Amino acid sequence: MMTESTPNIPLGAPTAARMYDEALGGKDHFEVDRAANAKLYEVIGEDRVRSTAMENRRFLGRAVRYLSRECGIRQFLDVGSGLPTARNTHQIAKEADPGSRVVYVDIDPIVAVHGRALLADDSTRIVTADMRRPETILDDAEVNEFLDFSQPIAVLFVAVFHFVTPAEDPARIVAAFRERQSPGSYVAISHLTTDGMSEKEQEGWYAGFAGATVPLALRSEKEIRRLFDGYDLVEPGLVRPYDWHPDDDDSPRTNSLFGGVGRVAHPS
Ligand code: SAM
Repeated sequence: MMTESTPNIPLGAPTAARMYDEALGGKDHFEVDRAANAKLYEVIGEDRVRSTAMENRRFLGRAVRYLSRECGIRQFLDVGSGLPTARNTHQIAKEADPGSRVVYVDIDPIVAVHGRALLADDSTRIVTADMRRPETILDDAEVNEFLDFSQPIAVLFVAVFHFVTPAEDPARIVAAFRERQSPGSYVAISHLTTDGMSEKEQEGWYAGFAGATVPLALRSEKEIRRLFDGYDLVEPGLVRPYDWHPDDDDSPRTNSLFGGVGRVAHPS
């Protein structure tokens, strides 16, 4: 159980991982995170924010299930993985094959502190790193010991690129990962979007994250689509998460996000 005296946990500012945990109804957050979410709830509406978080989490689950069952993926690099919560990537991947391997990466040290206890098993590793410096992940010794980049890997960027500003060059980041991926590899991305989002709601998201440890950057559908350059989007393409391989998982429908899965494109 994490406490406010757990070492290396920044308490002065809200973090995306802890705010997301609060929005999903978890217990691993502090007053500063609740206060930031209260700003989101005030402008956007509590139900809408919590539904957005849940819709995203449902997408993650369906994407991992699809990748493991339909695409035969057995290695996952879950970047911006967040705090462990219900139905984590490795649990879903292991339903398809108990030998599946997952590396969780997050910038927030709380993920490793809290996750190591909960996720401790031979199928997972947790690394604290900043995806804006992709080489710190791609050249990490533990990552390379555990994952074999000569074989297909799915890289998951689920609800994380909206914490990368245009100046930080998201295309460069995706390209760094793609260049290491072998044929048959995939990417999954979901992202908060301005398309269909009122100005008031956009302001609300920015206000809520104003003091957070990572910056917020909402994007249009067109800008999110560009993140898939070098990948072929699988059906049904880049869509609202609730429309991406829907099943009976009762996904909320907020129209705050887009999500998709792409396969490394063959060089033409
Ligand atoms: N991927 C999980 C999901 O969709 O359920 C968690 C999403 S949560 C909204 C975003 C996560 O991305 C947070 O845990 C945050 O710490 C992490 N994050 C933000 N910026 C990051 C960066 N530059 N490098 C690595 N992780 C980052």
